[in-house]
Formats: sequence, C-alpha cells, structure tokens
Amino acid sequence: PLSKLSNVGTTIFSQMTQLANENEAINLSQGFPDFMPDSELLDWVDSFIKKGFNQYAPMGGMIGLKEEIARKIENSHQAIYHPDSEITVTAGGTQAIFTAIATFVKKDDEVIIFEPAYDCYEPTVELFGGIVKRFEMKTPDYEIDWNAVKNLVSEKTKMIILNNPNNPSGKILKENDLQELIKIVEGTSILILSDEVYENIVFDGKQHLSICKYPELKERSLLIASFGKLFHITGWKIGYCAAPKILTDEFRKIHQFNVFSVNTPIQLALAEYMKNDDHYTQLNQFFQGKRDFLRQGLANTSFDLLDCEGTYFQALKYDKISDKNDFDFASELTINHKVASVPFSSFYKDKLNENVIRLCFAKKQETLEKALENLSKI
Ligand code: GLN
Repeated sequence: PLSKLSNVGTTIFSQMTQLANENEAINLSQGFPDFMPDSELLDWVDSFIKKGFNQYAPMGGMIGLKEEIARKIENSHQAIYHPDSEITVTAGGTQAIFTAIATFVKKDDEVIIFEPAYDCYEPTVELFGGIVKRFEMKTPDYEIDWNAVKNLVSEKTKMIILNNPNNPSGKILKENDLQELIKIVEGTSILILSDEVYENIVFDGKQHLSICKYPELKERSLLIASFGKLFHITGWKIGYCAAPKILTDEFRKIHQFNVFSVNTPIQLALAEYMKNDDHYTQLNQFFQGKRDFLRQGLANTSFDLLDCEGTYFQALKYDKISDKNDFDFASELTINHKVASVPFSSFYKDKLNENVIRLCFAKKQETLEKALENLSKI
C-alpha cells in the first residue's frame, strides 16, 4: 500500500457535511454550533492580536491559560494538576488524542476502545502499530459489561480509551463504571486516555464523573478536553491534555515536534475569559434547553428517542420508518427531507447497524425549528 492508512476514507463528518451542502439540507450531522461565540471572547482575541501577541507561545502553553485550566479542573473535580508541568495546551482535542496515542502506543501494544467510538481513535492506534480490542455498547442503553471488558485485557494491554460523555450515544459513565474500571487497572501499568470534551454538557442535574476524581485512575490517565465544545469555537482548534508530570513529560516530547505550540492570542484570550466561571457553568442548562426542544419536537414523530444524558447529540432509532441500513437512511434523509445526520454504524468497526442516527442540536432555535418541520413530515 502507498500509505499507512490507505484503507481509510474521508471522515463521516466531512462526508455528511458535504452531502448536506450539495443538497442544501439543514446540517445536523457534523457536531459544531451554527451560532456565534460570546462577543466578549472575540474582543479579547482581537485585542491581543492588536497588542502584538502574534508569535510563538511557549511549547506547553501560556502559563496564564494553564493556571485557569488547573483552577477549572480543581473547582469541577477537586483534582490538582500543576499548571506548568502537568497541563499542555493542544490544537484541539483530536491533536491531543493523536499525540497521546503517538507517545505511548508501540507496535503490537493492545488498546481497548468502546464502540460506538469517535472516529479517530482506531486509525491513530493502528498508525503506530497498535492493535485495537473493542467492546461494543449497544441499544437501548449502551451499557458496559465490565466482565467482557476484563476479558479483553491481556499483558499486552497498553491503554484504555474512554469517551465520557460518549459521542455519539450521549451516555455518561456512572460511579459503578468507574469502580469497575479501577478494579480492572489495579496492579497493572495500563494507561487511560480519557476524552472528556463534552464534560460540561451533561443534563438533568446528573454529574460528570471525570477520571481525575479517582486518584487510582488519575495517576495513569491523560485527560483531554476541548475549548471548541466549551465556548462554541470548534474552528479555533484549541484544547488541552492534563496528566501527571511523568506522562506529560513524554507527551510533550511528541507535542513539540507535532505542533510545537498553539495559537498565542487565543490562549491569552481564553485565559482572560475563563476568569469568570459563569462562562462555562451555565453550559449544561443552555444545551439542555436545546436538547429538550428537539426531543419535544420529535416526540410526536415515528422516530424513537434514545436517552441523551450528555453531549450535544441526540440518537434516534428509525426502524418504524424504514428498513434501510443507517447509512442509506441518513443519505435519503439528507437528499429527500433536507436534514443531514450521522449514521451510527460509522462509529463501529464492523459497521453494526441498529437503525440509529445522530442529530447535533448545537444549533440556533431557528435551525432546530426548520429541521423539526422537515422531520415531522416523515
Ligand atoms: N466532533 C464533531 C462530531 O463528532 C466533529 C468532528 C470532525 O468533524 N472531525 O461531529
């Protein structure tokens, strides 16, 4: 083969967004807000650019931002990370995930992932010669059978990748899940990569249980988060990785050659903006309004709503409407009904089809209304 990933195509998010654009459909496929970020944040960026902060940031990130990140983590999860030596600012969650895998996964190392899984985990593991072991979470509730997970563990297991809250299912991990995980990793040198980019989007008063709340897990974990999801700025590509110094030191060896450092004026702006906790503590409520609006609008249709405990994605089962597989159904929905979604099978290696699609509700009221109008006619 010409390249190391010659069997991989374009991501489903790019595919569905392109199909949406070609068909002038309402794009509820790729997960990004269609509304403006807070103008205060935009003003901060503008002011730092104009003040002349336009050159390289320090490799691991600007100290002011790392301090604010440490403060946020401590306030939210009562966990302490040293800003300078344990937090690295990255070019978005995906780059942090890529770098974490590149740093630690060697040829023939095994990595456990939970499907439906965000699309970058598996190809990245394989790029570095790792072998993916999967546990398939399924409808209706995407529960994890920890005994089955335990059976996937071997002396070759290098890493377990968690995504909590889970994109695309909207499932969050419960206390029992984390206790089971603790039992599995106890006495091993297994690392945990915890993708928590939707940590501030959890509904119905439920609590996001970060990996860093549990000292037995924190000591072996790389915690990854994203400002794109937190402040409606997915196009700014900025996030971070928090991990104990011993892991961060290794992570940065790769990070320095991957991106070296990330956007200076945006880091400075985020540091200022994060001084006000209200800028993210209200996020749950903000997105719960959108989730509830979408769910109420769909309640009278033939779609079945699956639970949505977190993230800005709603999963829908459509088997009362069509017996097509989810990919064909999603294409038809885009072309004929002008609403673009993402088929769940694209989150499973074996393309498991349970007739489920994902809708993104990080959209203006007006966009959601138009989408509901179209979906109600089906
Ligand atoms: N995270 C977003 C989603 O799940 C989009 C990611 C992407 O386009 N690569 O839809």
